[in-house]
Amino acid sequence: MIDFNIPPYTGKELAYIQQAVSSGKICGDGAFTKKCSEWMEKRYDAKKVLLTTSCTHALEMAAHLAAIQPGDEVILPSYTFVSTADAFVLRGAKLVFVDIHPETMNLDERILEEAITEKTKAIVPVHYAGVACDMDQIMEIARKHHLFVIEDAAQGIESFYKGKALGTIGDFGCYSFHETKNYSMGEGGALLIQDREYIEKAEVLREKGTNRSRFFRGEIDKYTWVDFGSSYLPSELNAAYLWAQLESTQQIFDDRMTTWNFYHESLKDLEEKGQIVRPYIPPYASHNAHMYYIKTKDVDERTRLICFLKERGIHCVFHYIPLHSSEAGKKFGYFYGEDRYTTRESERLLRLPMYYGMKESDRQYVVEEIHKFYSENR
Ligand SMILES: *Cc1c(COP(=O)(O)O)cnc(C)c1O
Repeated sequence: MIDFNIPPYTGKELAYIQQAVSSGKICGDGAFTKKCSEWMEKRYDAKKVLLTTSCTHALEMAAHLAAIQPGDEVILPSYTFVSTADAFVLRGAKLVFVDIHPETMNLDERILEEAITEKTKAIVPVHYAGVACDMDQIMEIARKHHLFVIEDAAQGIESFYKGKALGTIGDFGCYSFHETKNYSMGEGGALLIQDREYIEKAEVLREKGTNRSRFFRGEIDKYTWVDFGSSYLPSELNAAYLWAQLESTQQIFDDRMTTWNFYHESLKDLEEKGQIVRPYIPPYASHNAHMYYIKTKDVDERTRLICFLKERGIHCVFHYIPLHSSEAGKKFGYFYGEDRYTTRESERLLRLPMYYGMKESDRQYVVEEIHKFYSENR
């Protein structure tokens, strides 16, 4: 059986968790949390990185920091994970879904400007598969209309747009370290903040509305309740796992990229014959091999291919069902303009097994069986 995903493990994780336990501090904001955040701040040139309990929570924090109010409109793609939307719905926002580029599955920035109204408060680009949205265009529109940009870079750690790390281009960026992502801590995420004005507010928000972070830095002699907040701080046990992963960033990256490139090269002939479509990486994007997907002719062919591969022990999965077609999506938002690509392309997309440490013989087998399907299918 070839799994679709196996959580990344590089070898030092357990020793670091042991170290956290021995240090006598397993709650948040200890040595490993600090190591992880400072490492990311430096590597990605971010003013501040705060580890969080999930990317969902990082998005929620961003929605609070942007002071989204009931009735405000937030523009986002419909082709995304529910968390992108949930964070804003919790603040009473109305969701305005826009269509995507079929080549990247990323929000189509050309539709943004017409979707903006007086109520629009934020744009939430999602870097699908770790491939950058066209951020220059998005930022220009956002600045012109005084809107926040909150990047859902859940899949985009170690991906760049014109040399800038995803998550550091908008006002706020959100990473995920869920077990399905390239670098993991089981459940966890990070909030990236560019504007110093928001750093202290974010720390208070994450620490139950208290100024405990300043207290720990010795800036004040006791901590108090200063604003509303919640508990978005992950434990040192999770951070210890993540630190082992971040130390092996290059190793994980190279390994995944080998699999990605192998798929891309080996499936080229099927694209040339017009049988499938492969992912497209725009010249401004350097990606992290988060995902490899192909597009079949239509949903029926995809269903047949999934069954065909399953019978041969290969687990492949489709991805998002567009949010605007779901019960909650209808309740909390609407699709602006025409759905030319969102539904159609989402029904064609099939994700292939992709994880750190995937065996060469396994990826070869996947590619062979896909070829078999298309030769028998003719
Ligand atoms: C994984 C993912 C999330 C949620 O991340 P969690 O850390 O599980 O909360 C949000 N948005 C996108 C695009 C994702 O892929």
